[in-house]
Amino acid sequence: MKILVINAGSSSLKYQCIDMQTESCLAKGLCDRIGIDDGLFKQNANGKNIELKTDIPDHATAIKLVLKYLTDKEYGVISDVSEINAVGHRVVNGGEVFPESTLLDKKKIDKIEELTDFAPLHNPPAVTGMRACISVMGENVPQVAVFDTSFHQTMPDVASLYALPEKYHTQYGIRRFGAHGTSHKYVANECAKYLGRDIKDLKIITCHLGNGSSITAVDGGKSIDTSMGFTPLAGVMMGTRCGDIDPAIVLYIMEKEGLDTDEMNTLLNKKSGALGVSGFSSDFRDIEEAAKNGNKKATLVLDMLSYQVAKYIGSYAVAMGGLDAIVFTAGLGENNTTVRKYICDRLGYTGAVLDDEKNNVKGELCEISTAESRVKLIVIPTNEELAIAKDVQAIVSKI
Ligand code: ADP
Repeated sequence: MKILVINAGSSSLKYQCIDMQTESCLAKGLCDRIGIDDGLFKQNANGKNIELKTDIPDHATAIKLVLKYLTDKEYGVISDVSEINAVGHRVVNGGEVFPESTLLDKKKIDKIEELTDFAPLHNPPAVTGMRACISVMGENVPQVAVFDTSFHQTMPDVASLYALPEKYHTQYGIRRFGAHGTSHKYVANECAKYLGRDIKDLKIITCHLGNGSSITAVDGGKSIDTSMGFTPLAGVMMGTRCGDIDPAIVLYIMEKEGLDTDEMNTLLNKKSGALGVSGFSSDFRDIEEAAKNGNKKATLVLDMLSYQVAKYIGSYAVAMGGLDAIVFTAGLGENNTTVRKYICDRLGYTGAVLDDEKNNVKGELCEISTAESRVKLIVIPTNEELAIAKDVQAIVSKI
């Protein structure tokens, strides 16, 4: 079975074509600057790269380009579009309506569109991508939606509800949804596999640390709490997002500076986090480098992030009543040895002990705790596309 995985943003569309027999990526690529000038198409397949500048006025054109180059004689990996058995679409927020991945029909696509308020930047382009796929590929190719929020639907009320008047939950659906669910689920399962244990018997904390970061408590294979909230702004500080702050600060700044909601949103989502504190970069490679060269603000960023992550780990160990393993994943979690060290050095009380030598690893599955460590520390590269494709395969094989 070959599955096309689509991750559609407002002006970009990333894709992978995955062969489920080998669980390998046959081709991956990107349509960038959709609907703007200077459209760009890139694909990497069979060790061959193609990059071309071409206008991409809309998502349907993007899908046509993807299919054209997947079947291209020189750069392609399949001889005909009919070899694609199904398509998986990444959707950021499925609200309470979609507790799991689902086979799409017109009604469900409309429903996802109705959830736009919960993910105004992400759900509309995902819906556009779905409709574009159907219009280009026809109605017979199964289209499946996989939601970032689904894995967290198992959170109990104590973790998912906010202490606001009840009507804000019942009337507006305000609650903790979390994000990165596909990644947390994937690495938690990989962790159990690596340990040779049944995930039902494990208490795992998964740390997805990238530009956006979230921490999840996975108890017996289920998410019981996660650091992102109603939106992906909550939790630990991130590249440009502030993470948890006293909500009264928002009102205070808006009043002091006369900001409207859009301006305040930009401040919290785009100008805060590592960028806001360091004053020079949201990228932790720059932050790490500057810290090594004695930049105090950069060191403060590393200290703040590691302190916040360690605090979440401590609270989730309490929430689960124990802790077997901590997983580090995503750009930072997989590659930034300094951030991992700063976090782990704060975890002594939990019984987790980092092996500094083993920690010297980037982008590959590796246990980085000492032999005596009571809690396993493991780096596991995430693979959200494969996780999406696996969900699609499970659903399609039941049709
Ligand atoms: P996103 O949340 O946008 O998917 P990533 O998971 O790629 O982001 O994470 C981005 C962060 O990870 C950046 O701060 C960057 O410094 C770090 N990062 C990504 N790749 C590497 C790498 N190969 N080496 C060191 N740091 C990396």
